[in-house]
Amino acid sequence: MIKLTNITKSFGRHQVLKGIDLTVQKGEVVVILGPSGSGKTTLLRCVNYLEKPNDGDILIGDYSLNCKHAGKKDIIRLRQKSAMVFQQYNLFKHKTALENVMEGLVVVKRLPKEEAKTRSIAMLEKVGLGGKLDAYPSQLSGGQQQRVGIARALALEPEVILFDEPTSALDPELVGEVLAVIRKIAKEGITMIVVTHEMGFAKDVANHVVFMDGGVVVEEGTPSELFNHPREERTKQFLKRIT
Ligand code: ATP
Repeated sequence: MIKLTNITKSFGRHQVLKGIDLTVQKGEVVVILGPSGSGKTTLLRCVNYLEKPNDGDILIGDYSLNCKHAGKKDIIRLRQKSAMVFQQYNLFKHKTALENVMEGLVVVKRLPKEEAKTRSIAMLEKVGLGGKLDAYPSQLSGGQQQRVGIARALALEPEVILFDEPTSALDPELVGEVLAVIRKIAKEGITMIVVTHEMGFAKDVANHVVFMDGGVVVEEGTPSELFNHPREERTKQFLKRIT
């Protein structure tokens, strides 16, 4: 389970997260929706401490941390519980697909090279890239690069994978293949938090949908509750604009 309690984050005087509470059960897919600037990316980045929250508690699996009192070691332990899939893939350009997936296993998880290689090949096969192990990012399409990013996250065997708008940098014809891979791994019971503007995906795959605006959770519920029977005016207006 993942439990965020009263997460706050400011950049200078701008409070971007105003006390976020969020619970994700093991194996659940939670989709976060919201207008630009509502704090969705910042929230994901706080979960794995790419941004340091000002306050709040983060529990992931059997590990919990208070953001005000966390030390360096606590943060390293927390980071190992999650993996992030970025909008812009963030692959090493001078490394092959296989080397990109192996990197975290060898450097962070300290797995022996052969074991890291076997696991990385299996993950690349899972995302349909078994034939591209030795390709460099520049030789891959955006969709393929993002699938390498997903294989890299999966290989770390985290408690949760955090997807930050994983298809928003892709040409429209490449979105489907990436969503298909995310769907497939969701079915395997991997816990996920996904920030996306893909409503079809949210309706299909999410167990729970959260609508954020202005740094707060305005409303949350099942896809059917949120999309078909939104209660809050802000949610209704947002859904009207995007559908
Ligand atoms: P989008 O859908 O456009 O990606 P978002 O909901 O993910 O938006 P965030 O990227 O979390 O929103 O940004 C929320 C607010 O925080 C924005 O006003 C943004 O300018 C601000 N912000 C984000 N990162 C920083 C930073 N490093 N320094 C200063 N301000 C920041």
